Amino acid sequence: MGEKLEQLKQHLYRHYDLHMAGAVLDWDQEVNMPPGGAAARAEQLATLSALAHNIFTSAETGRLLEAAEVEVAGLGYGSDAASHARVLRREYDKQTKIPTELIAEFSRARSRGFAAWRQAREEDNYPLFQPHLQKLLDINRQIADILGYEEHPYDALLDFYEPQVKTSEVAKLFTELKAGLVPLLQAIVERGQPVDEGFLQMEYPVERQWELTEVILREMGYDFNRGRQDQAPHPFTTNFSSSDVRVTTRLNPHRPQAAIFGSIHEGGHALYELGIPAKFDRTVLAGGATLGLHESQSRMWENMMGRSRAFWHYYLPIMRAFFPQPLLGVSEEQFYRAINKVQPDFIRVEADEVTYNLHIFARFELEQALVAGELQVKDVPAAWNAKYEEYLGITPPNDAQGCLQDIHWAHGTIGYFPTYTLGTLISAQLFNRAKAEIPGLEEGFAEGSFLPLLEWMRAHVHVHGRKFTAAELLERELGEKISAQPFLDYVTAKYTEIYEL
Ligand code: ZN
Repeated sequence: MGEKLEQLKQHLYRHYDLHMAGAVLDWDQEVNMPPGGAAARAEQLATLSALAHNIFTSAETGRLLEAAEVEVAGLGYGSDAASHARVLRREYDKQTKIPTELIAEFSRARSRGFAAWRQAREEDNYPLFQPHLQKLLDINRQIADILGYEEHPYDALLDFYEPQVKTSEVAKLFTELKAGLVPLLQAIVERGQPVDEGFLQMEYPVERQWELTEVILREMGYDFNRGRQDQAPHPFTTNFSSSDVRVTTRLNPHRPQAAIFGSIHEGGHALYELGIPAKFDRTVLAGGATLGLHESQSRMWENMMGRSRAFWHYYLPIMRAFFPQPLLGVSEEQFYRAINKVQPDFIRVEADEVTYNLHIFARFELEQALVAGELQVKDVPAAWNAKYEEYLGITPPNDAQGCLQDIHWAHGTIGYFPTYTLGTLISAQLFNRAKAEIPGLEEGFAEGSFLPLLEWMRAHVHVHGRKFTAAELLERELGEKISAQPFLDYVTAKYTEIYEL
C-alpha cells in the first residue's frame, strides 16, 4: 500500500472508531436501554455523529484524498487501493455537501423519532409519531435538495443505500416483477390446494425457541465468539468490527417461525459481515457493499436455504426434539407446506416469498409520493391502507399493523425499502450460480452441510467488502445485470408445485 493512502487511512481511523462507538449506542438503545434513557441518548448520538462527520469532511481528509488519488492512478479498478480511493471520493463529495449541524439535527431527530415510534406502535397511536415523521421527512428532503438529483429527489436518498441505482431502474424491475407475482398470487388464492398450519399456532415455549435458533445459527457458520444474539422489537444485525457482529430476533410462543426465520435472516446478514476481510476494518471498505447485496445474503439464507425441503429434511427431527408435543404426527411434507404458506397479510417481515415484494412495492410508492410532496404525512395511514387494498386485497385493522409496523421511517431512513426487493432478485441470481458450481449443494442441506454455500459466498461476495456497487459485483462475478427473471422462475416453480397449480 502506498504511503499517501496509508496516511489517509490513519487520519480516518478516528472517524470510523467514533462511527462504531455510535453503533454500540444504537444497539444498546434498541436492545437494552430503558425508555427513560431516550432523551440523553439522543444527545450522545448527535454529539458522536457530529464529531465523526467533522473529521470525515475536514479539509485534511480532502488533501490526503487528493494525494492518495494521484498515488493510486493507474492501479486496476478492482485493486484494494484504487477501490479505497474511489469509494472514499464518492462518500467524501457527498458528505461534505451536508452541513454538520444538519447531521447532528438528523441524529437527534432519529433517536427521538425511534422512541416516539416505539410508543406509538405499542399504543396504536399514529398522531404521536406524526410530528417526528414530518421532521425526519423534512430533513430527508433537505438532504436530497443539497445533494441534487437528475430525475427524482428519491434518487438522492436511494443512493445512500444502493449507490448509483436510479428510482426509474428500480421501478422498471418492479414492474416486471409485478407482472409475474400478481397472477401467481391470484392463482394460489383462487385454486391452490389449502395448506394447514394449525400446528404452528400451538404453544412453542420461547426458551426452547431461543435454544433452537442458536443451534441453527451455529450450524450455518455463525461464530458466537465473534457475535451474540439478543431480543429486539424489530430484528436487525449490527457490527462494530469484522470480529463483533451481533444479531437480534423476536419471540412469539404461538409463531415459532418468527424467531426461526428471523434468526436465519439476520444470521445471513451477520455471515456477510463476518466474511469481510479484517484488513478492511476501520476503513471505508469495511462492511457489506450495498443494502441490496446485504439483503441478497439474508434472504437467500432465509428463503432459498431456510425454507427448502432439504433444509427441513435435516432440521425437522431436531426441531421435534425441542417441541415434541405440537409437532406430534406432523409429516415433513406438511411442515414444508406450512412454513411456505402463501397468504396476503399485514406484516412485511413475516410475509411469505410470494407476497413479500408486494409489501415493498407499496412502501416504494408511498415514499416517492412523500418525498415529492404529493402525499402529506397526516394522510399516511389512509394511503397505506389503500395500497394494501390495492396490492394484497386486505385492509390493516389498525396502524400498529399498518404504517407503524416498520422501524425504518423512525430511523429516518427513507429510500431503504427497495433494497429488500433488489436483494431478493440478486439472491436468486447468486444462488443459481452457487448451485451450478457446487455439485450437490441442496442435497448437502439435507445432511446439515451449509458451509459450501457460505464458502462460495465468501469467495464471490464477502471478499470484496464495499469495493463495488451491486451492479459492478454482479458483472464481475456473474457477468449479469440485476434481473427479475431468475427470482420469478424460482418462485413460480416452487409455489406451482406446493399449491399444485
Ligand atoms: Zn434484512
